[in-house]
Amino acid sequence: METMVPNFEFRTVPSILVEWSGARRLGEILAARFAARRVMVVTDMGVRRAGLADPVLTSLTEAGFTVTVFDGVVADPPEAIVHDCAEQARAAKAEIVVGLGGGSSLDIAKLCAVLVASAQPLAEMYGIGKVTGSRLPLALIPTTAGTGSEVTNISIITTGETTKMGVVSPQLYADLALLDAELTVGLPVVHTAATGIDAMVHAIEAYTSKFKKNPLSDALAREALRLLGSNVVAACRDGKDRAAREAMLLGATLAGQAFANAPVAAVHALAYPLGGHYHVPHGLSNALMLGPVLRFNMAAAAPLYAELSDVLLGARAGRDTAARSQDFVEEMERLMNDSGAPRRLRDVGVTDNSLALLASDAMKQSRLLINNPVEVTEADALALYREAF
Ligand SMILES: [Zn+2]
Repeated sequence: METMVPNFEFRTVPSILVEWSGARRLGEILAARFAARRVMVVTDMGVRRAGLADPVLTSLTEAGFTVTVFDGVVADPPEAIVHDCAEQARAAKAEIVVGLGGGSSLDIAKLCAVLVASAQPLAEMYGIGKVTGSRLPLALIPTTAGTGSEVTNISIITTGETTKMGVVSPQLYADLALLDAELTVGLPVVHTAATGIDAMVHAIEAYTSKFKKNPLSDALAREALRLLGSNVVAACRDGKDRAAREAMLLGATLAGQAFANAPVAAVHALAYPLGGHYHVPHGLSNALMLGPVLRFNMAAAAPLYAELSDVLLGARAGRDTAARSQDFVEEMERLMNDSGAPRRLRDVGVTDNSLALLASDAMKQSRLLINNPVEVTEADALALYREAF
């Protein structure tokens, strides 16, 4: 029997521009859309050293923009980076913010655009819907196919020594997301694998999210998983495979749209402490926790995993829900093995005696844990870390 359409709201960015080499003509693109001409470009040294920023900056200058660059973003960015970036943007009287890079650069760009336009302190912005002011015009250009940050309303910041906190507010949706897959061509295999798997985790966790999943987030998650699952190994084997790179970037963005509305859950909650304590990159930490969490959730999520099996493997005749959900978990394990990413916590420097601390920290991610199809206690979290160790 067909079910009724539930009540739901779906939000996303107003404009997504998909264009190979589009970053090389960013000046033209922004000049046609915005009146502002003093631009702040937020990026990191890795992006600059890879030469990805040069054509972007040239294009902006040629189009008549006055350009200031903040390239001090680091992985797991602490609050001090946000403040430095906003201070430089204020000093430069920036009127528009461009984020260029991985998730951290885009997350900092979002907060910079908000902080410059408002007197609200960052400390009051953590949580859901806490941002009160508006923001500067904002364009986001991802250089990895993973976080989906270009289309989410979320910025993740490291507060104190090790805790990851989220600012989640509609103001963080950018005006424009530019998807230029050429920027991802030089991404090394291990980052291609880890960020690609992270994007798949976004699709999976959005699809099984307990409260806010809806027909639009489901459609986006399914298509994201199809694109990512059929291209992640190809993109890892040959980074110059243009079709695979384009599919991965689009897939990551669709997954981002899905999880901005149907939030991620236990995989991310367990992954964040690995970033906080060990600086395991976000994508990799998610890849490491995915297998154990999928098996943990199986009892409750089997019907949804069976549907995702059909997306990845096609409908398999004669296989019931239990068998297809098992197929799904096995296919995800196969993709992760074939991608070449590290597979165990001990491979990335995590020590046995820290697992209890990680489990206790994971419990702080109540914003995420609440979305998991199965309740996760601290004892469960510890068991999941042990399984991943
Ligand atoms: Zn993620």
